[in-house]
Amino acid sequence: MIEIQLTNHTLNETKCKNCYSYDTDLCLCGGRIHCEFEDKVYDETNGEIYLFFKYKCDKCGSTNRP
Ligand SMILES: [Zn+2]
Ligand SMILES: [Zn+2]
Repeated sequence: MIEIQLTNHTLNETKCKNCYSYDTDLCLCGGRIHCEFEDKVYDETNGEIYLFFKYKCDKCGSTNRP
């Protein structure tokens, strides 16, 4: 599993240009949760494409999805 390197991110800001969605989410601890694209999986059985992201809080380091 690849960890987000938060040095590439703008910490403690609601807007982060290195995040996938540009907006960061608020963590329960009060920090900002950063998001990076991880993988794209195509499901042949139903034709759906699933996107996977990885998350990391810039304060408590939680990798839980917000
Ligand atoms: Zn970020
Ligand atoms: Zn946190």
